[in-house]
Amino acid sequence: MRHEQDTLPATTALTNLLALDEIGMGRLVQQFGWPRYRTYQILRWLYQRRAKDINQMTDLGQSERDALASQATIQRAAGCRVLRSIDYTRKFVLTLSDGLAIETVLIPDEDRLTLCVSTQVGCTLDCGFCLTGTMGLKRNLKPHEIIEQALTAQDHLDPGERITNLVFMGMGEPLANMEALSEAIRRLTNKLWGLGWSPRRITVSTAGLATRLKDIAPLGVNLAISLNATTDDQRASLMPAVNGIAALKTLLAACRRYPLRPTRRLTFEYVLLAGVNDHADDARRLTKLVRGIACKINLIPFNEFPGNPFRRPSERDISAFQAIVRQAGLDVFIRKSRGRDVLGACGQLGNLSPEYSERVLTQIEPRC
Ligand code: SAH
Repeated sequence: MRHEQDTLPATTALTNLLALDEIGMGRLVQQFGWPRYRTYQILRWLYQRRAKDINQMTDLGQSERDALASQATIQRAAGCRVLRSIDYTRKFVLTLSDGLAIETVLIPDEDRLTLCVSTQVGCTLDCGFCLTGTMGLKRNLKPHEIIEQALTAQDHLDPGERITNLVFMGMGEPLANMEALSEAIRRLTNKLWGLGWSPRRITVSTAGLATRLKDIAPLGVNLAISLNATTDDQRASLMPAVNGIAALKTLLAACRRYPLRPTRRLTFEYVLLAGVNDHADDARRLTKLVRGIACKINLIPFNEFPGNPFRRPSERDISAFQAIVRQAGLDVFIRKSRGRDVLGACGQLGNLSPEYSERVLTQIEPRC
């Protein structure tokens, strides 16, 4: 079996080039005795041209390619299934080298094409309304397993399509895998050899790991916080693990301290659960909690999944909630649920029983 590692190769195992960061790639190039610019040539092949084979790297001589291939390989996910929703949302199910699976969702909406990326297999947290939370944490993703989701989605774009936004709102809690998240963002935003995306097009969403919010600021990306409740009792029953780490007061204090750049805003997400947190009182408390913070609010009507007791509120109740928040002068939007038929919407990523998946999911491409 091939090793995946973030350091230099052992003598027998092939190094996965995607598993090396810029420094690691520099060391490998140095080890071959090549000039430094080879580092950037190789990195550009991996991220800008999405090469899958070392032999494609035609600005390296044949002998260099052979030397590189004797020690290294480009190892993408072991398998990939693509599921296409009736609303054109596409869900990619990637099988990792250890057989575990992660999901990535590509969501078209008017002039946007948003990619929703996972950061963990399963999740550290146990939010009661989220399918991923029921899986427990299997493991953190490595940087290349995160960035690979963007590469795979790009491989599958229709002609003329371009990903406009990337959100870390897939499986997992991004701030519980901070090092890999930061490295993946560096590769996404690096203009010299990486994907060259503006950090403004990237949003990291957290369930509320308050002490780590500050670590997002230097990355220049947007920050979203999943509030979902307006009292500690409510939050403790809906999101017990994260509320145990930081109660609402601590979380909102961290939001107030967050070093927002001028013209930027935080986003607060709020999953609307019928009869649970969608009352007029909840809406009023929400406006008080976020008062004074430069922010917008995204309401996410609950996406149902089998075996979960929560329900989606009626359209009328959703609009009534929005109206109260809007009257307080806040920018508040209702997030459309996309890809629900392929279980690609918020909170629907993860393992369901195989019989159910077979019944509801249309697989449109057998392999990536
Ligand atoms: N762990 C991170 C990112 C993953 S969840 C976070 O909590 O922010 C992404 C968003 O989906 C969060 O706002 C979460 O509250 C929401 N969500 C989870 N399950 C949902 C469901 N079943 N229906 C609607 N939204 C859900």
